[in-house]
Amino acid sequence: MTRKPILINTHEFIKQSLEIHGKIRASQILAIQDSLYAGADEGEVSYTLSGDKSHHGKPSLKLDLAGQVTLCCQRCLGEMHYPLVSSTWFEVVADESAIPELDEDDEVDYIVASTQFDVEALVEEELLLSLPLAPRHEEGACAGDVSIMTGQKQNPFKILEGLKKPVS
Ligand SMILES: [Zn+2]
Repeated sequence: MTRKPILINTHEFIKQSLEIHGKIRASQILAIQDSLYAGADEGEVSYTLSGDKSHHGKPSLKLDLAGQVTLCCQRCLGEMHYPLVSSTWFEVVADESAIPELDEDDEVDYIVASTQFDVEALVEEELLLSLPLAPRHEEGACAGDVSIMTGQKQNPFKILEGLKKPVS
């Protein structure tokens, strides 16, 4: 499952306002395997990375993601299609020391300039941040979720236990 990294020179990429497009299959991303619904089409995400020297007058990279991944609902353990659309700007700085101290109001993300910047590593990182920590269907949308629809309170962990028993 090793992939050939797509490496760019961030300085040149921004200077020439280059763009790179690609697709990553969710099944290729090791870090999200535990969240995926096994046995289904895990989905894929298209990305576009573009270099832009005009954003706030700072050298920047913009990463757009669009796609869908198939997650496993933490409540009913069922299949859950999770659409994904995001657009993130990264300001490219010369080295770590140029990154300002964390500011809560600051919504800028930073990347340290590199002549061998791994594009898909950034895509994977951003994808991870975009996914919910504990994916769940909407209230009442789980498979066989009659109790929740009728308003009966039931401990979700008990439901999980019930589902797991026949397997062991
Ligand atoms: Zn569910």
